[in-house]
Order: sequence, then structure tokens, then C-alpha cells
Amino acid sequence: MSDRQRTIRVVDFELPRGAVSIEALMAMPREGWEHLRKEINIRRQIEPDRPFARCRICEGGIFIRAQAVDDSHVPFYAHFPESPTDCPWYEGGNLKPDDARAAQYQGHQESALHRRLCQTIEALAKADPRCVGSAIDTYLRPEIHARGRWPDVFLDMGTFGRFALEIQLSKPFAPEVVARHLHYEREGVRLIWIFRELEDPLPQGFHDVITMQRGNAFVFDDDAEAASIERGTLVLKCYLEDGKGGYLKPRLVSLDDLDTTTGRAVFLEDRRGERLVKYCREVRNRWWQAYQQARTDKPTSPFYSDKFAPAWASVRGHVPELSVWKEDYWATHSEKGQAHLASLFAILCSVAHSAERGEEVLYITQHSGAGALLAMLNSKLSSAAFAPYADLIETFVRTTPVADLLERPSFQKIQGNARSAHPQVDREHPVWKALARLFPEALDGMVRAEMADLGRLPKWATGPEATPSN
Ligand SMILES: [Zn+2]
Repeated sequence: MSDRQRTIRVVDFELPRGAVSIEALMAMPREGWEHLRKEINIRRQIEPDRPFARCRICEGGIFIRAQAVDDSHVPFYAHFPESPTDCPWYEGGNLKPDDARAAQYQGHQESALHRRLCQTIEALAKADPRCVGSAIDTYLRPEIHARGRWPDVFLDMGTFGRFALEIQLSKPFAPEVVARHLHYEREGVRLIWIFRELEDPLPQGFHDVITMQRGNAFVFDDDAEAASIERGTLVLKCYLEDGKGGYLKPRLVSLDDLDTTTGRAVFLEDRRGERLVKYCREVRNRWWQAYQQARTDKPTSPFYSDKFAPAWASVRGHVPELSVWKEDYWATHSEKGQAHLASLFAILCSVAHSAERGEEVLYITQHSGAGALLAMLNSKLSSAAFAPYADLIETFVRTTPVADLLERPSFQKIQGNARSAHPQVDREHPVWKALARLFPEALDGMVRAEMADLGRLPKWATGPEATPSN
């Protein structure tokens, strides 16, 4: 057992040869390993500081020892004498307790693998003639060093950009992930995180990286390495989130395939922004379709149409408090809660669609012509039924390009009256929550902030208020 542990299991030869396990070495014909042994010794003579073959764990120089067995020779790996003697594969010295050995092995193995990946990735990228400069973190990069961070691999790909590649084997920490993105964004350097594999389940730190990369995960594995050699440029395996908690079939991509037009993230496809846009469209669409059908069903009083029933059931599934509110509302107002919410939907849709199109379009009241939107808002806020929504309507309008309506004296006067005469519905109110579900781009702070970060806010929601006021 101890003999086996002391064997050098894997040796990394200079590219393009790469890794050769002890089993592969021993299986080679004599000419094969003799040739390697010769190359190792030639390099040892010419450049003793740059070994041709390195121990996978300690990176110390390795030579091939030919051991006489019967009437032939069997090749083994051995460390050159100056290699670190604490290498767990070191063949001399005393045995250490198994636990210490195992822990040391783990740490050594990870850092050795990390260094090897950095070197391999740099070498593959340098094969691309567009690569005009590169460095691995141990080299000084003045402009990056100035802020105290070195990327694992830095690539200057000339006209198509400068890249920082972080080869992440262990779980990254969320604050560090974000800090690095912001740092490289300031430096004008594109940051790409590269994993060795996508573990299942994936630790949160990796998910944090994928989130920053808009639902894209990049892996450098054997397939990516082979494709890189074949194409003569760095190729990564890209996993795109499928929106159902998994990933689409991975694709092999080179740096040119990636979108580098937004500073903070590099990605093949923006999976997160798309998902959010789709989410917003779907929840609201149910109500929009109901409204269209209701107008046909009951042209004079569409909000009392049964066509809203499925849309109501859908939003109530997400805001269960609506059921209790509906009972109370009926008892105190003698109006159907469903119809009331449908009217509010039409008010907000009028604002959003007018803001989107740059021309006034109303789905409630008979106002028309220039100033119709303001007239509609004023008339609604003047009524006892909608006066409790002065705060909500202000919050909503402020997220749209028609926010200047809020400065009109007529609106301010009516809004002031509404506020002094009626307690205001707040964010915790079931109706506010329901409308936040229907118009998340404006009223759901998390969704709004994320869409703003991703540059995916729809035109109608790009008002002066960056995030909803609290
Ligand atoms: Zn070693």
C-alpha cells in the first residue's frame, strides 16, 4: 500500500504531449519511453530550470528511471533531487500519518491542477495569432496589480479585447465574485470564470458566478482542450441554463462567439434577461387577454365580465390574501374585488402603453385627445374607489417616461386631496402585491433592479426612478 502511494501517478509533459499516467508510461513500447527519457535529459542539460516533465502534485522536475526487472527494464517516474521532499509522491524519507498525507495530497493536487490548467489555457490561447500578450498570475501586471488583483490568466487578444480568466476549482465566495466583476469592468477587461466541471449539486458560489454570467457556465475539460488544439484558439465548453433548473446540451465556443458588449459580464446568450422578460410578459398576458375578451363580452362594463375569472384565479394563486380582501371589499364597498382589480389593471396598462408608444392610449374612461392620460388619472384619483391608490399610481408613473405628469398642478392637487381624505394602500396590501405581480418591471423591486442591471427594462419602465421608492 505505501509503495503504491509513493509512486508518482501522473506527470505533465510539455504541451502538446500533456499528461502521462504511470500506467500509460509502463504500457509504452521501449522506444516510446526511451525517447521521453532522452528529451527530459536533453532539456536538463540545456535549461535545468525548465523541466520537460513535471510531477502533477509538486510540479518538481521528473525523470524516467529504468528499473531492471528480469532481463528487461521497466520505466518509473522519479523526482529530480531538487524537487520538494514534502511531495506526497516523493519516494524518499519517512512515511507520514495517512490523514496528514491525504489532506496534503488534496491541497497539493488542487493547486497543482490549478497551475497546470492556467498554463494549458494560456498556451492554447497564445496559439491564436491575434493573441498579442498573455500572463499567468505570478507575473506582474502593472495596471491590474495597481488594484491588488491578478487574474489567473490574462489575455490581450488585440482588437477583440483583453480578457481575465479566473480558473475556479474551489467554491468562490459571492462578495469576491462581484468585486472582481466590478474591478475588471472598470479596467475594461472582460472577465470569464472557468470551471473544471459542473458538479451536481453545484455549490452556491458557482451559482453566483453563473448568475453574474447571465446563466452561462464555462468549463475547460478534455473536450474543450481537444477543440482548442484543433481550432488553434482557446475553446470553452458553454452550458446555458434551460430555465428549468438544468442546462441545455453544452456547446464548444471560442472567445469570438461570446457577447462582450456589456462591461460586467461575458456570455454566449443572455439566459437570465430573457427569462425575466418572458416571466413579465406571461404573467401580464393572461390579464391582457382577459381584458380583450371582456370588451367583446361586455362592451359597456368590461370589468364586470366573467372573462377575468381565470386571470383572477391565477394572480390569487400567488397572492392568497386577495381572497380575504375580496370578501372585505364586497362587504364594505358593494363592489366586486375582481372588477376593482381589473379596473386598476386597465389604469396601469393605459400608463404603460402610452409610455411605450409615446402617444396616449386609454383602456378605461372615455377621455380622448391630448391630455387624455392625465385627465383619466385625475378623474380616477378623484373618486373614492381609487383615491387610496395615489401612492401606488405615483410610484408606478415615476418608473415610466411619462413621469412628468406627476408635476402637473392639476394632478398634484387631486393627489393631495386623495391622500388627505383616504388612507393609502401600501406595499403590503394584497392589491399592491397583485399589481406588483402583474407589472413587475415597475413595482417588484427585485425584478426591476435585476432587469436594469441586465439592460433589459422595457422602454415603458425606463423612467427617472431607477428603483421603486420605499
Ligand atoms: Zn512531486
